Amino acid sequence: MKTALVTGGVSGIGRSTAEALRDNGYRVIVADLNEPASPMDEIQFIQADLANTDACQHLINTVNEQHNGIDILVNNAGFQHVCPLEDFPLETWQTMQSVMLTAPFLLTRGVWPAMKAKGWGRIINIASIHGLVASLFKSSYITAKHGLIGFTKASALEGGEFGITANAICPGYVRTPLVERQIADQSRLLNLPEDRVIADVLLKNAAVKRLLTPEDIAAMVIYLCSPAADCVTGSSWSIDQGWTAQ
Ligand code: NAD
Repeated sequence: MKTALVTGGVSGIGRSTAEALRDNGYRVIVADLNEPASPMDEIQFIQADLANTDACQHLINTVNEQHNGIDILVNNAGFQHVCPLEDFPLETWQTMQSVMLTAPFLLTRGVWPAMKAKGWGRIINIASIHGLVASLFKSSYITAKHGLIGFTKASALEGGEFGITANAICPGYVRTPLVERQIADQSRLLNLPEDRVIADVLLKNAAVKRLLTPEDIAAMVIYLCSPAADCVTGSSWSIDQGWTAQ
């Protein structure tokens, strides 16, 4: 049985991904800052603050000791902070880079030797459309996600000869707690009902006017883990309601 580690796996995209991997026959471990709000059957939970490099290293040591290496790593943990760059707090900037860029590097480095030894591995980085294009007031997030796509390409080149693939998924807006908070904030700021915020603000650049579901993203992770994707590597997979088509 192959083992998957999903970061940020108690909520939103991470939780759906962890559950889909479990339902597809993988052993699943989730690492998250927060405990799950409801039970996650047959999924192992490890508390970890991925902003902290020692905690990342400790997580890797724990999973490598408990399991015969990790076969699938889904770097998903992340958060948003919306603020004009001239007021952007340095500490928040650094935490965002730590969680969304340095942690994926440390975890990839940590799972690499076992993947290499087995001649098989899947690294899946949950980036964003904001890894491909920018929007206002999200400078640190956009920087980290663009960097994550670069790291995905670098990992793909180094992993090729060892059967390790690395891909990024670039979702548009997905209905998760992260986006629920943005909808509520914008609704207050703009004095608009939430359905207008979704249609006119969040999905302004989208061809398909509906929010994605976490299950939409989980299905792409399952595809990238399947034999059909053995030769798919170094790619950024947009699933973005047509946002980046223009
Ligand atoms: P979410 O808030 O529902 O889940 C994020 C998870 O990451 C939470 O469980 C949180 O506890 C965890 N996390 C945050 N900081 C952490 C830390 N320091 N250490 C460990 N865990 C930490 O958000 P989501 O929407 O499911 O987002 C998941 C990923 O998808 C993120 O990387 C996000 O940038 C990306 N993404 C989301 C959307 C969207 O529209 N929701 C779009 C594109 C990309």
